[in-house]
Amino acid sequence: MRNIFKNENEVEASGKNILKESGIYIHIPFCDHKCIYCDFYSIITSDNIPNYLTALKKEISHFATLYLSERKYSTIYFGGGTPSLMEANYLSEIIEHIKKNYDVADDAEITMETNPGTINKEKFREFKSIGINRISIGVQSFDENELKFLTRIHNKDEAIKTVNTAYDSGFENISIDLIFNLPQQTKKILKSNLEIATALPITHISAYSLILERGTILNKMVLDGKVKLQDEDFDAELYAIAIEHFKKNNFIQYEVSNFCKPGFECRHNNLYWRYKDYLSFGTSAHSFVNNRRWWNITSLKLYITSIEEKGNAVLNFEDLSEQQNLEEYVMLALRSKGLDLNEFEKLFGNSWIQKNNQLFDELLKEKFLFKEKNILILSEKGFALADEIVRKLL
Ligand code: SF4
Repeated sequence: MRNIFKNENEVEASGKNILKESGIYIHIPFCDHKCIYCDFYSIITSDNIPNYLTALKKEISHFATLYLSERKYSTIYFGGGTPSLMEANYLSEIIEHIKKNYDVADDAEITMETNPGTINKEKFREFKSIGINRISIGVQSFDENELKFLTRIHNKDEAIKTVNTAYDSGFENISIDLIFNLPQQTKKILKSNLEIATALPITHISAYSLILERGTILNKMVLDGKVKLQDEDFDAELYAIAIEHFKKNNFIQYEVSNFCKPGFECRHNNLYWRYKDYLSFGTSAHSFVNNRRWWNITSLKLYITSIEEKGNAVLNFEDLSEQQNLEEYVMLALRSKGLDLNEFEKLFGNSWIQKNNQLFDELLKEKFLFKEKNILILSEKGFALADEIVRKLL
């Protein structure tokens, strides 16, 4: 097998190492139950927590020897699973270990995901004191029936209380996740969810339409005819209601599914969408550095064993071809901040732009796109058809 890891020198030689701002993702797979729609790698046992943290630290040190030079890490993101189930001192050890091994920006955004019903004020304060400065809360809905359907452990009041408690504990940057177009969701239910959300002290909302993932309990329920999904047209109507509501309440849409108060974009997600590099640690984690993508083993025990034996737990990797790079870059850019034609040209030349000039003109004329300082940006109605527009262009 070829060496999985290109080091920075190889990359300098290939002339491709243009974007150096990077992020770090840590996967904490522990949850206290499994939700029916979830396809993230999560497990309902806390047996291996100390061994997992030891393995994480070893993996973090291992990659530092390969990806340290000329990189500034501006974000750390604890995702899961439910990272807030960990003791704060465990996450503190991880943060300090990252800072010891990598060049982390002084003002780095450090996010932790949490779920209502799993955290209280004392724990929020502890997490704040170790340097976490952004909280992402898996609310999903404020409707009791929808929460039951999703098999979440919290109810509406707990969801509201968790957001308020995070704020009272000193967090000023709070995001919530909402899922819309659940089976039997009406416009009235969605509007009520949106009203409650924007009345809370939050800075950011990720609002996704329900996605059916293979291998989930929900998928089986749909296949067995026990649950019926709503159609795409209704989904589009709900999405339009959400966009309108967020706009009215001073939330800017900066990605197809993400909305924030001015100045509160998620810096970590922006790294993904701007095609920057990121290192990810933990079981099932995916990394992307120097046009190479690799992913870790999806099994807690095998991950720990592999790290103990060789310092990494990489299952496989792929090098993106020039065409794949171009396609990902265009797709991610259009779904978020827009396609910067100057940066694109520096990275990929201008033949693709020339080939698509006529289509760009049509999309501009139809107002699916607008242009600002040579950046092509999807309009509101463009966002609603983002996938279709990207497909056409590519
Ligand atoms: S709490 Fe989140 S990560 Fe855990 S099972 Fe539910 S959706 Fe998945």
